[in-house]
Amino acid sequence: MGVPLVYYPLYTTPFPEGHRFPMPKFRMIYEILVEDGIAEEGSVFRPEPASRELLSLVHEFGYIDAFTAGTLDPKAMRRIGLPWSEEIVERTRAAVAGTLLAARLALSHGIACNTAGGTHHAHPDFGSGFCIFNDLAVAAKRLTSDGTVDRVLIVDLDVHQGDGTARAFSDDPAVFTFSMHSGKNFPFHKQSSDLDVELDDGLDDEEYLRILAAHLPDLLEELRPDIVLYDAGVDPHAADRLGRLEMTDRGLARRDAYVLDHCLRRGIPVAGVIGGGYSADHRALARRHTTIHRAAHDAFMART
Ligand SMILES: [Zn+2]
Repeated sequence: MGVPLVYYPLYTTPFPEGHRFPMPKFRMIYEILVEDGIAEEGSVFRPEPASRELLSLVHEFGYIDAFTAGTLDPKAMRRIGLPWSEEIVERTRAAVAGTLLAARLALSHGIACNTAGGTHHAHPDFGSGFCIFNDLAVAAKRLTSDGTVDRVLIVDLDVHQGDGTARAFSDDPAVFTFSMHSGKNFPFHKQSSDLDVELDDGLDDEEYLRILAAHLPDLLEELRPDIVLYDAGVDPHAADRLGRLEMTDRGLARRDAYVLDHCLRRGIPVAGVIGGGYSADHRALARRHTTIHRAAHDAFMART
């Protein structure tokens, strides 16, 4: 068996050509993983789209119902920045369920990844920055509220702050939110995570990894979480349109391997999601997103 991966055919939905959200990347990620032998038959799992009740662990019914029906007001839709369609509704519900499924697979197999997810700008009562419902928050809330685990650590290394996630758990001691992000970047009004590390513009691989190493091992030791949900956004890359850092592909690969290694060597299961990445070259971007799946594959194969 290969590393457990989660994929849903509508992760890439029909979408307006030239839109600044890189919708084609999700199918490309999956195709690259199949081509490269990382997505193996029998190790790819398909989620059932999240129910209204599951979403309501984090989100308000008024928001869930208005988005689902396509009746959210135009201002709220503009804040999300994606066009509404029936397929987008199905897709976002599937992506949330996909991260929960990846978390459950990680609890059984040590490690698993979604091929979407990381919609960390979705707040309980509104969506923002291409994020509609918050997969990391719903998965963490489900696992802690049904008693599957006592404590979750969310490690959010997307270049933008996980503001929606921070707000969802501002008074929930069962979920610790750690966000390491560009201080000057979106969202301009930051929320308070349990630990926020703000990065200066132009940071390179060595500096980035040094700062990560100054925080992550201590957090894992102190918290001893039952699972880590890892947002492996690739927007800290130098070529990213929305990042402000100067990381390389090699640096992102070192980062992902570092996070997985530090979780697994302590026996802490880890579920990865892809997070943000914005580049006009969708093929190159999709390949960059597979960094987390490659790191997961290597770690999984080394264990079995
Ligand atoms: Zn981002």
